[in-house]
Amino acid sequence: MIQEYQLRVLPEVAANEQRLKEYLVQEKGLNVRDINATRILKRSIDARQRTIFVNLNVRVYLNEMPKDNEYQPTIYKNVEGKPQVIVVGAGPGGLFAALRLIELGLRPIIVERGKNVRDRKKDLAQISREHTVNPESNYSFGEGGAGAYSDGKLYTRSKKRGNVDKILNVFCQHGASTAILVDAHPHIGTDKLPRVIENMRNTILECGGEVHFETRMDALIIEEDEIKGIETHTGQTILGPVILATGHSARDVYRWLAANQVEIEAKGIAVGVRLEHPSELIDQIQYHNRNGRGKYLPAAEYSFVNQVDGRGVYSFCMCPGGFIVPAASGPQQIVVNGMSPSNRGSRWSNSGMVVELRPEDLLSGELRVESGEWTMQHDSAANSQLSTLNSQLNMMYFQETLEYNCWQQGNMRQTAPAQRMQDFTRKKLSYDLPESSYAPGLISSPLHFWMPPFITERLSKGFQQFGQYSRGFLTNEAVMIGVETRTSAPVRIIRDRETLQHVRIKGLFPCGEGAGYAGGIVSAGIDGERCAEAVANYFKL
Ligand code: FAD
Repeated sequence: MIQEYQLRVLPEVAANEQRLKEYLVQEKGLNVRDINATRILKRSIDARQRTIFVNLNVRVYLNEMPKDNEYQPTIYKNVEGKPQVIVVGAGPGGLFAALRLIELGLRPIIVERGKNVRDRKKDLAQISREHTVNPESNYSFGEGGAGAYSDGKLYTRSKKRGNVDKILNVFCQHGASTAILVDAHPHIGTDKLPRVIENMRNTILECGGEVHFETRMDALIIEEDEIKGIETHTGQTILGPVILATGHSARDVYRWLAANQVEIEAKGIAVGVRLEHPSELIDQIQYHNRNGRGKYLPAAEYSFVNQVDGRGVYSFCMCPGGFIVPAASGPQQIVVNGMSPSNRGSRWSNSGMVVELRPEDLLSGELRVESGEWTMQHDSAANSQLSTLNSQLNMMYFQETLEYNCWQQGNMRQTAPAQRMQDFTRKKLSYDLPESSYAPGLISSPLHFWMPPFITERLSKGFQQFGQYSRGFLTNEAVMIGVETRTSAPVRIIRDRETLQHVRIKGLFPCGEGAGYAGGIVSAGIDGERCAEAVANYFKL
């Protein structure tokens, strides 16, 4: 017999199956000899009160053993000899598109500019050690895309639970822990993700798909408003419809689209800094306990959001027990982001702290780019393009300029400019900086002075409000590190809502985060699957 229970238990009970069985015997009157197995179906932490509880939805197997898999496997067919579909980019959007194409009987040809997920690791180490960024292999480019060396957080605001479950199940089928099916805030961890990504690639290859690394798409071949295929950087031509899943850092792709009059538009982004606290401090604040998280609770998370002077100010992509990483995708840029290992065991917890920015902010007096209060310093071409009303690439130029300015402030290396949190709110240069997880090193810098006041003034007010909600959060033990600019795509590649094809060009399927239709690993995966289904409709399968 199988019975299911909704329980509210102490963390030590939730963490240990034997303790859980004892609890079921005591509280639910079960006979210990009847309990053959328990399976947790959902788990969330309730840290609102001083005593922390874990909410569990538990399935109990009485006098029988579980017969079903812990995840729902997908059946992948052999697609050799089937019609081919080009997938540009092997991030979550591209990989999930390719797997879904196989399910639907189509043969994916993946073209990825970066290296395979293992070789990519050496280039990541070079960024911290040598301060050199390989423009084809970095935290954004390479197998697994921007999601490969990340926290692997798998939560999404998508309301379509079925689609989310499918993505999580595919991850489990390729080696992710089944805990991701259970946890309210699932994550895989940067130490586990590469193996999962390799397994996904192997499924694609075993079924007859192709994966070409270190192969950059340099042009789309378009004839009479219909896609014929792509041209790679080696001059090779590959024919077929195209799922374009190149991510938000492929600025050369945006430039090519704009130059070739492919319809795109500027899109809102959010811009700010990474904020890093000692994880012990975040645990103390969030778990209301001077002793921190103790033995049974994970590193604590937080989430803040507020409206300041008409724009959202919020924490983004929080990485408890994680690291801040140098996420530039080219030379002369500093971009920061966060990642964490599966045990979230580092001494620091970080998150992006960002301010919403809309395309009209760059054109209105608000940001005052043109009036000189905050001027674009490096690229006069970009600056003059920025002043062109309605330029589709304005938001991208803004990102580029801020990243370049940050690189200058960081001594023209990957050393990142940084400021203690309270010093920032008091507009004061930090005399020294706390120890940080950011491997290339920090340099004290008045972020309040050189970042655009549109952002710094709102961030400063936001920090003060967050400090009121959570005592101890606004502290000089925390350090702000510049700049966090790649929160989402600065451009949308406009597609038809029904067919998911580009509004004008048939057979072109803009996909995932870079096209402006996703914002994270799971939503990019979901969009990849949707694009594959749209291609099947295009073939009228
Ligand atoms: P991408 O992952 O960006 O993939 C695009 C791929 O296209 C890349 O592999 C790139 O090399 C390739 N490409 C680009 N141009 C070309 C070209 N011309 N030819 C061939 N290939 C090309 N999201 C979460 O949900 N949870 C997290 O914990 C999380 N942490 C993150 C941590 C870091 C450090 C970073 C950088 C991002 C993180 N994100 C996280 C965001 C997440 O990774 C992205 O939302 C997601 O990867 C977007 O998927 P995508 O497939 O649309 O694009």
